[in-house]
Amino acid sequence: MCDLSISGDDVAEADLVTRRGTFRSVAFRDPLDGHEHLALVYGETTMRENVLVRVHSECVTGDIFDAMRCECGDQLNAALDAIVQAGSGVLVYLRGHEGRGIGLVAKVRTHVLQDHDGLDTVDSATALDLPVDTRDFGPAARVLKYLRVRSIRLMSNNSDKIHALESHGITVAARVPLLVPANDHNLRYLVAKRDRLGHHLPHLDTFTHGRLDSAGA
Ligand SMILES: [Zn+2]
Repeated sequence: MCDLSISGDDVAEADLVTRRGTFRSVAFRDPLDGHEHLALVYGETTMRENVLVRVHSECVTGDIFDAMRCECGDQLNAALDAIVQAGSGVLVYLRGHEGRGIGLVAKVRTHVLQDHDGLDTVDSATALDLPVDTRDFGPAARVLKYLRVRSIRLMSNNSDKIHALESHGITVAARVPLLVPANDHNLRYLVAKRDRLGHHLPHLDTFTHGRLDSAGA
């Protein structure tokens, strides 16, 4: 459980007009990790049950520059589209989560090992003596409590993320799959997430048939 809560001194809110519509931007400084994170709130979510939520880990290369070696940017866009389509929801954008927490420089170093030595996303981290996943989802739990969301439907393929949020006192009523199309550049990454990190990616079963040997690396 998280004992800390976000204080008003560490929050600023304003409307944010986007191409998708008008969100409430809630910028907050987390009391534990010190990072400045952002929640985008669409529609009415206060004291609501089953709010559609995406907890998204920062990925500069994927989110901003549309890199195709991961699916982060596609997931970010799909989640925002789903929230708008549902009429309400929250996207929590967590900073300091680059490369599952190892940082941008280290992440790009893992890319070198992936490209030159054929290592996957897990082995390329451990080969550099880096942890596979150090992400803390406490800030997301704290902002959802600050927003007084009562329970959530989490858009994720990662059961560990659900357990992490629940351990911080968030009620996760359901997991909503967030599947984006695979391509030849992200296929190895997605397969590693499925086979080594336990992500639910059933759509890969048809895509990988006969293609993995020629993909990636
Ligand atoms: Zn990414």
